[in-house]
Amino acid sequence: MILDLKKVFLNENESISLHEDIEFPDMSEHFREPVSADITVRNRAGIAEFLAEVRLDYFCECDRCLKAMKKNYTFQFSHILIAQVPKDESDDYIQAPDYKLDTVSLLRDDILLELPSKFLCKESCKGLCPKCGKNLNEGSCSCVLHEPDPRLAVLKELWSE
Ligand SMILES: [Zn+2]
Ligand SMILES: [Zn+2]
Repeated sequence: MILDLKKVFLNENESISLHEDIEFPDMSEHFREPVSADITVRNRAGIAEFLAEVRLDYFCECDRCLKAMKKNYTFQFSHILIAQVPKDESDDYIQAPDYKLDTVSLLRDDILLELPSKFLCKESCKGLCPKCGKNLNEGSCSCVLHEPDPRLAVLKELWSE
């Protein structure tokens, strides 16, 4: 949603609050349900603040055993908004040119930064056997995964000469 924040920017103590359900169609594999966002923009002593609480279900696979899962997250974000483009670009501020703010693109960046880069079904996930692909959380397989003892390898070479 594009918020018009002119009223908030220009009036001290002015604020707006809204609820928005946000979809990311290009990432629908992970965001199968809309992200629920409660957004407030307020002017405190002449400074425009953006506050949001988002709740979302993130669909992903365990990085070790590939089990499909759904993780639930709640994140809080806050930003200082500025209407003019500053001389120095800064990450401390979010620009709202012409008092307009695109909540979807801002929250999308916020959420993607906040999500962990790895997902595990559980900390102790044993993963898959690299040889037969069995999910080792469900039991062990009979594969021999140990590298041959290097000393034996040397002996073997000697024998074969
Ligand atoms: Zn796992
Ligand atoms: Zn195996």
